[in-house]
Amino acid sequence: MDKDKMAQDFQDYMLGVFPTPSVWLERGEGVHVWDSDGNKYLDFLAGIAVCSTGHCHNKVTSSLAGQVATLMHCSNLYGIPNEVELARDLCMRTGYGKAFFCNSGAEANEASIKLARKWAHEQGKQHVDIITAQNSFHGRTLVTVTATGQPKYQKGFGPRPAGFHYAPLNDIEALKEAVGPKTAAVMLEPIQGEGGVKPARDDYLRTARDLCDDHGALLIFDEIQTGMGRTGKFFAHEHAGVRPDIVTLAKALGSGFPVGAMLSTNEVAKVFGPGDHGSTFGGNPMACAAALATLEVMDEEHLIDNAREMGDYLFMGLSRLQEGAGMGIIKEVRGKGLLIGVELASNVAIKLKEEAQARGLLIGNIGKNVLRIAPPLIIDTSHVDEALDILGQACKAL
Ligand SMILES: *Cc1c(COP(=O)(O)O)cnc(C)c1O
Repeated sequence: MDKDKMAQDFQDYMLGVFPTPSVWLERGEGVHVWDSDGNKYLDFLAGIAVCSTGHCHNKVTSSLAGQVATLMHCSNLYGIPNEVELARDLCMRTGYGKAFFCNSGAEANEASIKLARKWAHEQGKQHVDIITAQNSFHGRTLVTVTATGQPKYQKGFGPRPAGFHYAPLNDIEALKEAVGPKTAAVMLEPIQGEGGVKPARDDYLRTARDLCDDHGALLIFDEIQTGMGRTGKFFAHEHAGVRPDIVTLAKALGSGFPVGAMLSTNEVAKVFGPGDHGSTFGGNPMACAAALATLEVMDEEHLIDNAREMGDYLFMGLSRLQEGAGMGIIKEVRGKGLLIGVELASNVAIKLKEEAQARGLLIGNIGKNVLRIAPPLIIDTSHVDEALDILGQACKAL
């Protein structure tokens, strides 16, 4: 591959919303990916918390390949057996009542906001407001970017949809002030992903639940990044013992095949009837084949337990690094399971990420001073040791 030509074409023909890449990935297998020059990388970002079963897990690829050769699409005018099977599986394992499938995280959140508004409307209440957290991230559609509590994503897109309000994360008093008789729903990430891997405190989530109950509002948890076992439980909210009325999933659900889902209690779900919502591709046979195979791999390989164990092991190693080669560079290590944020003492996140990349380790940066580490859930201690070794070298190179 001619990388210069590819970069030129990228600039000439791609909408300029992404920076021109320096690495072009061609192939993935397990926890590794290879670029167009044949360089091998240990992938500790996993397509931003998507490839949880690793790259091209043979269970997922064979299930998908079989489906592709059998039936790729038929629309929701006809029954899709594996869509029903996926809905049943997700409801059985989580205790929710109904599932709706779509193609992305933003669409799952969009569905949840529509459902919450319709639910409030059906109660005969004038509840329309959606309260989200400052610094949150909920997607890029006009509604979900409005739900996103970060002005930098919203600038220039006005007028924005009405009825969205923001409260600072983990500030219980501010939440009490924000939630009131006009609130339709409170929408939160149990751990803010794009916001810098910032966990919501358990008592904050419990307060959100109580406030919603007091005011007849719904609680929505966006588990698009934290769900599917990444934090060491199927849903991150299980750690806090707080159950929302609606929960959204996407990223890791299809191991890389695009699929999103909204799960809700039966009581809330019943306000949606035929025609109230829909999607051409949502829940299509390929997406469902990928998601069912992903869940099967998660069970067979005990990936949730592994996420917890490897998360602890990685966390310990990063804390050691903070005292060693990363002294003065690493300020704080936070997160849960295999969703870890490393806050740096200065704006060296991009430099550190590049130093790691040059040594064969892929990690992410959030802004200028946070690293995001989100490896596939299939990693073992040898992968963690290798990643820590490279990170140590990268710190020394700074
Ligand atoms: C990635 C993400 C989204 C958006 O998902 P898309 O599939 O990009 O639309 C929404 N919420 C959270 C928490 C995310 O991490």
